[in-house]
Amino acid sequence: MNVARLLDRAGRSAGERPALAKGEQILCDYATLARRAAIFGGALTERFDLRPGDRVALILKNGPEYLEALYGCWWAGLAAVPMNAKLHPAEFAYMLENAGASLALVSPELAEGIAAKAGDLPGLKAILPTEGKDFAALRQGDPAPLAEAGEDALAWLFYTSGTTGKPKGAMLTHGNLMAMTLCYFSDVDAIAPTDCILHAAPMSHGSGLYNLPHIAQAALHIVPESGGFDPAEVFSLLERYSGLTAFFAPTMVGRLTGAPGAGDARTENLKSIVYGGGPMYVADLKRAIETFGQKFVQIYGQGESPMTITSLPKWMHADSDHPRYEARLASVGRPMTDIEVMVADGEDRPLPTGEAGEVLVRGRAVMPGYWQNPEATEKTLRGGWLHTGDMGALDDDGFLTLKDRSKDVIISGGSNIYPREIEEVLLKHPQVAECSVIGAPDPDWGEVVVAYLVGREGQRPAERELDELCLSEIARFKRPKAYRFLDALPKNNYGKVLKTELRKLSEEPA
Ligand code: AMP
Repeated sequence: MNVARLLDRAGRSAGERPALAKGEQILCDYATLARRAAIFGGALTERFDLRPGDRVALILKNGPEYLEALYGCWWAGLAAVPMNAKLHPAEFAYMLENAGASLALVSPELAEGIAAKAGDLPGLKAILPTEGKDFAALRQGDPAPLAEAGEDALAWLFYTSGTTGKPKGAMLTHGNLMAMTLCYFSDVDAIAPTDCILHAAPMSHGSGLYNLPHIAQAALHIVPESGGFDPAEVFSLLERYSGLTAFFAPTMVGRLTGAPGAGDARTENLKSIVYGGGPMYVADLKRAIETFGQKFVQIYGQGESPMTITSLPKWMHADSDHPRYEARLASVGRPMTDIEVMVADGEDRPLPTGEAGEVLVRGRAVMPGYWQNPEATEKTLRGGWLHTGDMGALDDDGFLTLKDRSKDVIISGGSNIYPREIEEVLLKHPQVAECSVIGAPDPDWGEVVVAYLVGREGQRPAERELDELCLSEIARFKRPKAYRFLDALPKNNYGKVLKTELRKLSEEPA
């Protein structure tokens, strides 16, 4: 079933509900948004002679037109290829070519750079800025009928953010997105039509994927004026809107907690902060809960199983009397309703609980493969399981704790050391704002543990104190051999720490 049917239903049955807002201003209701998508989809196919399944790239900064364009594509049976607008034009060109995109809808300020790199790609019929008469023309005409799209039809080609190598396109079908939507309701949160979602994280990724459950319930979509993440703006929007949900990466949650005004935020208007996409350290999570209250839901997912592998629901964040509360906070929760998780050894055999291995995933949200890359598909989906590349362990209660990506595990003197464990400890020091631990090559040990730290408000904790902290909580051999201080950790466009960069740094003389 075509997921645009969700918008069609909302437009008919809750047409008067507000659908889109920019900052404090409501822009249109659901009947209007559905009509716009139907007109846009029809005009797009006609003007550019597109066929169902053709790929349309969305290289758009967050804006209200995002949903119009996305649903316009789906309405007409086209596949969307959302890309992070912060990438480099050469990266856009790579993905446009790889996806065989017929059309690129782009934010006006990006158009020139993209045209310079991708202007003569065969098959790319136009690079169309979302301002100007050509775009306006797509808003005119009659609404097109809603196209049929089967469960297996491509809806969203999701390029993996990839901290190494070339990005690959995870093919997300209408069926995958529907499974994700239903798991949101069963495992993340309930949504009422009076609720809203704030798109302050990139709509090409988690925040954008979460449009679906909110469209399904005819809730309001707010795009901040700034188009991005600004804590002061989030707090000010909380004055205006109630029932507000946002998806944030853990680094954003940290920034929100530390921002001026956090203590005075109108938390009664904040409904939920769904976080995921990277490790959330227990010390940071506790600080966030103290500041904003019990609003938090954790999800673990990846492009290949969008937003849908495990979750730690709100009530488990609040269940502080539970004997395994701390361990649960440090976990990513339990498999979502429609998902099976197995922790396996190198030969895909299930490991006993407590033992760390690769996290394998099966379920209706899992992609059928990578776009035109049978080799990577075969490798990643071998045996019918998605091989996530994440290392983790299940406990007896079925909670999954992620260790680290297999390539990040440090092997020192033959022992496996999981950086996350050391990071959790270092972050307990009040002067440590952020940290990331890697293995640096060493002639004696193979690798040695090196910690990169960012001090809180310019402070620099004494190495002796950090050593003591580690010795009080973890085995001596895991203690970092060196502490290096940075002004900021290197991160990719989604805020994930680039350990590859840190490894390069570690090879330079200190
Ligand atoms: P992406 O495909 O860009 O969404 O990245 C997915 C990867 O982010 C996963 O494979 C994990 O390594 C990491 N990740 C996602 N959610 C979490 C989480 N809740 N805790 C720790 N790491 C996570």
